[in-house]
Amino acid sequence: MTDAILVVNSGSTSLKFGAYKLDDSKSLPLLCRGGIDSMSTDPHFIAKTADGKPIDAHEWGKDNAISHKQALNFIINWLEQHEDNIKVKAAGHRVVLGGTRFSGPTVLTAEIIDYLDDLKRMEPSHQAYEVLGARAIAEVFPGLPQVAVFDSSFHRTMPEVAQIYALPKKARDAGACHWGYHGISYDYIHRQVPKYAPEARRVIVGHLGGGASMCALLDGKSIETTMGFAGLTGLPMATRSGDVPADALFYLIRSGAYDTASLEKALYAEGGLLGLSGITGDMRALQESTDPNARLAVDYFVYTLTKTVGAYTALLGGLDVLVFTAGIGENSSPVRAALCEKLAWLGVQIDEKANEANAITISTPESRVKVLVIPTNEELMIAQHTHDLTVGKA
Ligand code: ADP
Repeated sequence: MTDAILVVNSGSTSLKFGAYKLDDSKSLPLLCRGGIDSMSTDPHFIAKTADGKPIDAHEWGKDNAISHKQALNFIINWLEQHEDNIKVKAAGHRVVLGGTRFSGPTVLTAEIIDYLDDLKRMEPSHQAYEVLGARAIAEVFPGLPQVAVFDSSFHRTMPEVAQIYALPKKARDAGACHWGYHGISYDYIHRQVPKYAPEARRVIVGHLGGGASMCALLDGKSIETTMGFAGLTGLPMATRSGDVPADALFYLIRSGAYDTASLEKALYAEGGLLGLSGITGDMRALQESTDPNARLAVDYFVYTLTKTVGAYTALLGGLDVLVFTAGIGENSSPVRAALCEKLAWLGVQIDEKANEANAITISTPESRVKVLVIPTNEELMIAQHTHDLTVGKA
């Protein structure tokens, strides 16, 4: 029998999981991970070892939809029957929005699940499905301790001026404010930075993946971040537009080119790198393309990163460390090189070979700013918080 923490990332039609071993070391080694995809059309399960070797697979067949409850029941039972006989002792969930109530992870109760469910009005893309995962476990395994780890809560340290918008009080009271996301990743990265730059106080992290944002950290705390209210604004992303002025959006509706629903779709699903290139939102494919629109999309991405680093350096009063993480940040040496070239005025110098090799430190010893590439691990961060608030609690 192996005791474990189960980490759940619950989406609209897919569920991802990771099982982390509870032992005396408290390092929570990964036992296995996997997921169920296409739950509403053609559900299929796959599980892999920690190093990515397939262990098992299962298919329900076309048009045999399964619910989140059935999916989690299957996963937890599968873990128990698995060769390590894994017994789940607690479950941790990624939940994007913690609202005003949570500035850190929390143990879930039925009342908190209802509160978080209500926040889906603000964040329509992920929140409802993540809460569905927690509710499903509460129903199928009622005694199992559950923890929610939020993406927004890491940014509750931002000063008041960074958490507000210049809106009338009525709009602010109705809930329009600057939440910020990717906090689980920033939480993980800020714990890694001292290993490579122990003296660093002023840090900018770029979480550059399909979803992308940047965060300015002073002494390990978020003081500003690009994503705003519901994950749409800030940097351009794979298919999300990033910042577009509200007056342009009003115009697009007034002109009849879009209604609210089609505009929302254009901004979330048809914009960003996909919208600009007209080809794809995938950075690697854009870099490999010779199409001038693909180049334009990459140039726009680097341009917004450059503006953001300039602004955040001013807010921080200088810059000690720049960190790249997530799919693009960890793998795209051309994006990193293009941004760092624009930051030469800040004393940023990178070592071309180290950059091409995706080394951890890619700056030269002479560089005034240390430039790091640190793979993020949001799942482990959720496992650690879940452990600390449940089975690991003294
Ligand atoms: P998500 O936000 O969906 O988790 P990821 O963090 O996996 O996304 O990042 C996906 C992005 O990373 C895609 O745009 C992909 O093209 C990009 N990416 C992955 N590997 C490379 C690479 N070698 N070069 C350039 N971009 C890459």
